Amino acid sequence: MILGCIADDFTGATDLANTLTRRGMHTVQTIGMPKGAAPDADAVVVALKSRTIPAAEAVAQSLAACRWLRANGAKQIFFKYCSTFDSTDDGNIGPVADALLDELGADFTIACPAFPENGRTIYLGHLFVGGDLLSDSSMKNHPLTPMRDANLVRVLGRQTPHRVGLVPYKAVKQGAPAIAEAYSALKAQGIRHAIVDAVEDKDLENIGAASSALPLITGGSGVAIGLPQNYRTARLIPKREGASALHGVGGPGIVLSGSCSAATLGQVERFAAKHAARAIDPLALAREPEKTVAALLAWAGETLTSGPALIYASAPPDKVAAVQAQFGREKAGEMIEHAIAALAKGLAEKGVRRFVIAGGETSGAVVSALNVEALEIGPQIAPGVPACLSYGSARYALALKSGNFGGPDFFAEALEALS
Ligand code: ADP
Repeated sequence: MILGCIADDFTGATDLANTLTRRGMHTVQTIGMPKGAAPDADAVVVALKSRTIPAAEAVAQSLAACRWLRANGAKQIFFKYCSTFDSTDDGNIGPVADALLDELGADFTIACPAFPENGRTIYLGHLFVGGDLLSDSSMKNHPLTPMRDANLVRVLGRQTPHRVGLVPYKAVKQGAPAIAEAYSALKAQGIRHAIVDAVEDKDLENIGAASSALPLITGGSGVAIGLPQNYRTARLIPKREGASALHGVGGPGIVLSGSCSAATLGQVERFAAKHAARAIDPLALAREPEKTVAALLAWAGETLTSGPALIYASAPPDKVAAVQAQFGREKAGEMIEHAIAALAKGLAEKGVRRFVIAGGETSGAVVSALNVEALEIGPQIAPGVPACLSYGSARYALALKSGNFGGPDFFAEALEALS
């Protein structure tokens, strides 16, 4: 292992793993703290759920992950958080970065959530989301981490007792040597965290090159694009073009959809027009959960002998609102996630090994029902969604799609990519 990564949420971990894989690093993502031996990979991304838990717990989990990664060979540590710097004055970005620096015996790191491809840019320490300051974007109303200040030097300054500085665009645009010089100058002033401006991918490549000697890098998945080249230059990894194909697991393939996002609704409609499809009826599920799941499993068992199939709870906003009004938002979500997890488990028992899952929360429920411990990241199916092969009690080919990802034919494309 060359690069050890700690991600503060599941889909963010996949995003980072996908970025590293596309840039030629063989990458494995673990679901929570890794169990057992380290996978044979250039980079391992430990996916925690530490974004909004109490800071002390986030620190403890991140340190445990860091120790495991280093014990298994990691030469550099990357702490991944959201490109909108999702955090509060209590943390968890500052406390985790400080604890990791102490653990590594280091006294300087960078904080760079920029992701220009997705409209996240940083100028003079201010984070922009598209054309808006972070504090004017929809993130200002986030239920858990409302971001009401776009000045990241100030934001991070409230999360750490140490000094926070800035590598301004004036230095960044001059390239890697100027950036590295700026790091040294800040370090000499006793600054421990540096927000780094970046407005395009070229800047991230240069920041990556300038950061080759840092024991710890913190940021979004964007700043990772510059790292694989450092390891190739140092001859730590061979030259590779993107992901190597995953070994197919074969057999029937199923799509399970619990996402009600607009893109998913279109994908469900498109797939159902040409393939076998069944909707999950939330009312029937509430009345007779086991019977409803058993009936869907029996249907799938028969249908899958002649081709792929789709089972979906996905519904347009008015129907979702009606179900939520009856059962409560959280209860309704849990009930459906539970049913889809039970379907995945039942199908796996019937020998199904190829799963396309739509929905972030839904994916989390399925991955834990299938006892998946880690994911080997394969070729990208759609931006942000790689084909994955699981490690655990059995091997599954998985495509885990959150909300609005993927084009209209995503389900058919994903099943094809997993075969
Ligand atoms: P996305 O990535 O699109 O946000 P998620 O799986 O994260 O998808 O979230 C969708 C949530 O909506 C899940 O909790 C799911 O169980 C719930 N859900 C799915 N279908 C329905 C429905 N018909 N009525 C109410 N809630 C639903």
